[in-house]
Amino acid sequence: MIELRSDTFTVADEKMRRAMAQAQVGDDVYNEDPTVNNLQKIAGEFFGKESAIFVPSGTMGNLLAVLTACQRGDEIIAEYNSHIFQYEVAGVSALAGVQINPIKGIDGKIPIDYLNGAIRDENIHFPTTRMICLENTHNMSGGKVLEVEYINAVAGIAKKNNIHLHIDGARIFNAAVAQGIDPKKLLENVDSVMVCLSKGLGAPMGSLLVGTEEFINSARKYRKMLGGGMRQWGHAAAAALIALEDGPKRLHEDHENCKALAEALKEKKWTEDVQQSTNICRFFVPDNNQADNFQEYMLKNGVRVQKAGNSFRMVTHFNVSQEDTKKVVELINNF
Ligand SMILES: *Cc1c(COP(=O)(O)O)cnc(C)c1O
Repeated sequence: MIELRSDTFTVADEKMRRAMAQAQVGDDVYNEDPTVNNLQKIAGEFFGKESAIFVPSGTMGNLLAVLTACQRGDEIIAEYNSHIFQYEVAGVSALAGVQINPIKGIDGKIPIDYLNGAIRDENIHFPTTRMICLENTHNMSGGKVLEVEYINAVAGIAKKNNIHLHIDGARIFNAAVAQGIDPKKLLENVDSVMVCLSKGLGAPMGSLLVGTEEFINSARKYRKMLGGGMRQWGHAAAAALIALEDGPKRLHEDHENCKALAEALKEKKWTEDVQQSTNICRFFVPDNNQADNFQEYMLKNGVRVQKAGNSFRMVTHFNVSQEDTKKVVELINNF
């Protein structure tokens, strides 16, 4: 099967499996797992921040950032179609006691004047705006990149208002590769970032939360509170280290493959968006029957695509080759 539903379907390769089997491990709740410690040290340096913590999932990484930066009754500003607002089970409300103010953006970007207007004044009726959360790349808009200029503009506003700027960087490497920029540069003026290793980078599990030492030490306590103290976590960290070091080097291939898919879909008039800068291709099949038939046809020919009503998603990744992409393009052309 060619799996295009998500880049979370990536399966660890031989190199990762060997590294996992041979990893030196200890009890990470005691900070005594050498492989986890090594991963966290390298990750901090990689993103130009003081410290990092390895966590089971991206959802937990974002929640830890909120638990650490906010108090109950605070408010976060996030884009309306962001993962933290739409797809994290309202965890920040249910578990951190924080309200999200969701603002409709364009290609994942909250317009700067709306952002300024959304920041709360000092008033006894209002919650305190404690965090701005941006998502890079922005999943729901089709893997759109937030440019460094935009992030720095938001960072300036956050700093002026004493607000924590968190990046949901599940796919931050896709954003960096697409812009030909060092992730450090992209994150220079942000306070924290969450990065998924289990998506296009190919690790079987795990994400990183990166920030100041003080911030990460506090997040470590909340990770334990949520039941995320993972003991011999070095087996997973061994794969994560390979994902971090090797993964980014091949993301440009995913972006090229995704662009090829988008161009075929444009011929069908199912998308206008051929400026696929990263690895997520979203498209819309207006006719209901045609939409159902397309999914069935692809499945019969060994390709899984994500479908919700008439909206589709295809994601290219670690386990989708150029050969596979050619096959999918031909299938689209022949439908
Ligand atoms: C996948 C994803 C997450 C959450 O990661 P999980 O590991 O699935 O919990 C967060 N943000 C974005 C943009 C994602 O795509």
